[in-house]
Amino acid sequence: MKFEIKRKSESEVKFKISGIDVSLANGIRRTILTEVPVLAIDEVVFFDNDSPTPDEVLAHTLAMVPLRTPPGKYGLPEECAEGKSSKPCRVVLTLDIKAGDTTILVNSEALVSEDPEVIPVSSKIPITYLPPNGKLRLEAYAIIGRGKDHAKWQPVSTVSYKYQPVIKINTNLCPEDCAKCVEACSQGVLTKKDGVIFIDPDECSFCDLCKDACPKEPSAIEVGYSENAFIFRLEPTGALPPDEIMSQCLKILKDKLVLFGKVFDEALEKIG
Ligand code: SF4
Ligand code: SF4
Repeated sequence: MKFEIKRKSESEVKFKISGIDVSLANGIRRTILTEVPVLAIDEVVFFDNDSPTPDEVLAHTLAMVPLRTPPGKYGLPEECAEGKSSKPCRVVLTLDIKAGDTTILVNSEALVSEDPEVIPVSSKIPITYLPPNGKLRLEAYAIIGRGKDHAKWQPVSTVSYKYQPVIKINTNLCPEDCAKCVEACSQGVLTKKDGVIFIDPDECSFCDLCKDACPKEPSAIEVGYSENAFIFRLEPTGALPPDEIMSQCLKILKDKLVLFGKVFDEALEKIG
């Protein structure tokens, strides 16, 4: 297996994994979405709520505010449920705000956490409005969870993959002055310089417009894909850094495969 980062920023990571098949690619995607644990608000106690948003809707809004999650600091749900966690099981965040003479927008910076490492990933996430002289007072409890139980515990907004595009041009068929395929491609995959067409296949969307534009019959350009290389695009919520998401994902997958191998061996022994 070969892993290669293509692009990385706070809001998006693009990477390529080669030497795997589609089932493993999908296993990685599903594990990121459903198994990598993060903190999210799970319960809210309201003392005052003069906002136009009902308590239950406000509680849901608060639950969807991504919280920075220090890896390994808080107990996993199954350990906490059985009282077996040696780590703290929850973080308390409070919100206590009163509007003045005008209506105000309450956003995530109003949440005060008892743990300075566990704060909203952005201070500008809108929560609700408060009318003049209105009050909002509440206590919220964040716990560790997994995306398979609720989307609020997903470490990513989205994670997707596509097959690695493979584009070939039979230049023997191309007239020197032709660049119709280059003009048809809006993704910047094809460029022509000094009479030579260059191909940068990663951004290809498989739209086939280059093939349609080609005057040759059959087309001198082929758009295909590799069956054992995949380009992933991951948008972290900010709860965990992308490197941490990937390393936790691969560890979880490995542990599951080891467990599966053990159960499989035991089953084989029983069959004889
Ligand atoms: S298939 Fe579409 S995106 Fe890919 S190279 Fe052709 S025109 Fe560009
Ligand atoms: S449009 Fe077809 S013939 Fe023209 S340069 Fe592209 S591949 Fe070659």
